[in-house]
Amino acid sequence: MRFADIQGNEGVKRALAGMVDAGKIPHAILFHEDDGCGAVPMCVAFLQYLFCQRRGDSDSCGECPACNKIGKLIHPDVHFVYPVTGGSLIPSSAKPTALSYVKQWRELVLGNPYFTERDLNEALGIEGKSSLISVAEAREILGRLSFHSLEGGWRAVVVYLPEKMNADAANRLLKSIEEPPERTLFLLVTHAPEKVLPTISSRCQHIRLVPVRRPGAKAGEEEAEERELTTALLSAILSRDLMTALETGEAVAALPSRERIKSWIRYMSRTLRNIFLSQQGLSALLSVAEEEELDLQRFAKGLKRSYVRMTLPLLDRSMMLIDRNVNAKIVLCDLVNKMFVI
Ligand SMILES: [Zn+2]
Repeated sequence: MRFADIQGNEGVKRALAGMVDAGKIPHAILFHEDDGCGAVPMCVAFLQYLFCQRRGDSDSCGECPACNKIGKLIHPDVHFVYPVTGGSLIPSSAKPTALSYVKQWRELVLGNPYFTERDLNEALGIEGKSSLISVAEAREILGRLSFHSLEGGWRAVVVYLPEKMNADAANRLLKSIEEPPERTLFLLVTHAPEKVLPTISSRCQHIRLVPVRRPGAKAGEEEAEERELTTALLSAILSRDLMTALETGEAVAALPSRERIKSWIRYMSRTLRNIFLSQQGLSALLSVAEEEELDLQRFAKGLKRSYVRMTLPLLDRSMMLIDRNVNAKIVLCDLVNKMFVI
């Protein structure tokens, strides 16, 4: 996978290539993407550029042995970690780690680089279950890092969804992320930076990926509608206008399909995360249109600092209920009421 194979985010590609060219590579980078926006392929393209034996002008050659192995996700010095749990594909007695599913992982990433969390769970046969990155996983990574690099160069660990690491696992890994063995690079890909343990997050350089329109993704009109409903709801909450808030909730429930309702919930979650970044004084990390930024600043000022932290779990829960076919009107009415009183 070369940078050229990835759509958009040209600035990020230039920044990553620049780090390699200048020989200034951070120990750890935390990529923040919206679900399904291609941060994993971006990591792969970056590693391919770093490892490439015939590096060209700002992209890897795509043909040398290193490129070949990284592109196929089989390089012995590049490890992938992602949340797992027991599922239909492996015996129930086994304690699974990412390695147990490496075949499914490779097929997924190579077949559908813009995969979502849901696609991953389906590929691993663990739909509807809650998965995590366990202590056993952390132990396994540290074990692998205790050897020298197999090919004599860099080593890398790509952690997909570090927010799903439990505290024990995170603490074990922390030391390696703080003081990594020489020529060892951690690349983390998160959908919820506020849920990544601060001790880990603060050790990383942060890079925000701009959402890209994936093949088959929704049209601009639908996104505009989601944005309008999101702005209307947050404005009503700010101005303490319960009637308008409830009406907006009903309008969301009346969207033409459950997928559209879920897509709105994702949009609202994304907006809340951006509000959170804005409240932390990290607006520079935001990648939103100018008029959207004005709304964000208004919400960031008006909402309590704890608002986002308290609201995101409500949205996760609503998503689950919609997935389970619970009446959308009831779910949305309940969600809006709770978002109103927090
Ligand atoms: Zn190459």
